[in-house]
Amino acid sequence: MSQVLFPLSDEHRMIQDTARDFASRAIAPIAAQFDESGEFPHDTVKKMGEMGFMGVEVPEQYGGAGMDTLAYVLALEEISRADASHGVIMSVNNSLYCHGIQKFGTEAQKERFLRPVASGQSIGAYALTEPMSGSDAGTMRSRAVREGDSYRLNGRKSWVTSGPVAEYVLTFMATNPDLKQKGVSAFLIDTKNAPGFSRGKKEPKLGIRASCTSELLFEDCRIPADQRLGNEGEGFKIAMTVLDAGRIGISSQALGIAEAAYQASVLYAREREAFGQKIGQFQGIGFRIADMKTRIEAARLLTYNAAMAKERSKSAGGRYTLEASMAKLFASETAMFCAHAAIQIHGGMGYSRELPVERYFRDAKITEIYEGTSEIQRVVISRSELGVI
Ligand SMILES: Cc1cc2nc3c(=O)[nH]c(=O)nc-3n(C[C@H](O)[C@H](O)[C@H](O)COP(=O)(O)OP(=O)(O)OC[C@H]3O[C@@H](n4cnc5c(N)ncnc54)[C@H](O)[C@@H]3O)c2cc1C
Repeated sequence: MSQVLFPLSDEHRMIQDTARDFASRAIAPIAAQFDESGEFPHDTVKKMGEMGFMGVEVPEQYGGAGMDTLAYVLALEEISRADASHGVIMSVNNSLYCHGIQKFGTEAQKERFLRPVASGQSIGAYALTEPMSGSDAGTMRSRAVREGDSYRLNGRKSWVTSGPVAEYVLTFMATNPDLKQKGVSAFLIDTKNAPGFSRGKKEPKLGIRASCTSELLFEDCRIPADQRLGNEGEGFKIAMTVLDAGRIGISSQALGIAEAAYQASVLYAREREAFGQKIGQFQGIGFRIADMKTRIEAARLLTYNAAMAKERSKSAGGRYTLEASMAKLFASETAMFCAHAAIQIHGGMGYSRELPVERYFRDAKITEIYEGTSEIQRVVISRSELGVI
């Protein structure tokens, strides 16, 4: 742990210990079963809400735990170490849903849309991606048309994490398609009170199988105009600002997966014997362990650094896009590197479904894809460094 650069306060240690204890007692033992069945883990997610993990940075007055970004990252890392599915459910709820309303919502919107989700009573989702627009989200086809005091929404959102179970959704639609990104607006959906809203089929997935993902459909769905988040035309900026926070969450999730793969590998390398010695004594295995450990520490520094940058932005303003992108890029590639190495170190047993190592491998892959692929992170970072050339 990088104590020198990031000395943890008593409060930080407390949330880290609490999350680690809960994750190892309540989540780790059921992770394989829920991965296999693909069921949503309602009971443990509810308990996470009761413990304050579903709205870590949301002020207590709106139902959250009122802690800082480093506390959020520490807790999410521990939850993800036990199970990346629980990790992404927590990350989307906190970073992509709650953060957007906390930052851009009116008082009335915070009361109605933030409180139930931050307190863990309901689940929130973020719906930006569409079948024809993922990385290039600004080319979305969904439309919102203002009609008096309401908006009529039409469109199809795809790959929505927690889509099948979310009671509240933050979504984005074009209100003025001619203006492209500047013509996008953000809307808050209360799915119980949104005639014309429905959920599509659940996606069958390679990994994070206990986190459910689906399409969300809007067919002449009418919502009151006061459910628009921010001004008309501000939606794309809101979507991207929220993704900065989301990428810190995914860095933490990736860090948790990498650590789990690393710890399993160290234990195995100490115990397994071949050619009359522990496999950890072979230099080839030892060097893999060294590379895993070094990359994890570097990923941790980048993730904590991004968390501190977000924390500073709360008082000083400004964005932390570069820090979040670098952390997400490096941590997700570290998760993939470590999960790949872990399977190799375990040999045949790494390929067996009897051990969690193959699950870490399947779960790690998504961190290089969602909330901006690794290619998109490299676009963001290189543009920031090179400017427009
Ligand atoms: C399990 C899962 C959960 C998800 N959860 C959510 C969610 O909750 N909410 C939500 O809105 N979305 C969600 N997504 C969508 C996710 O964010 C997108 O899949 C992702 O952004 C990539 O978009 P795409 O799939 O359309 O790929 P594309 O954009 O079609 O990309 C295909 C390939 O082209 C590359 N590429 C694209 N543009 C460039 C470029 N400019 N330079 C270099 N390479 C490029 C990409 O990196 C990728 O390798 C989820 C996806 C998955 C799989």
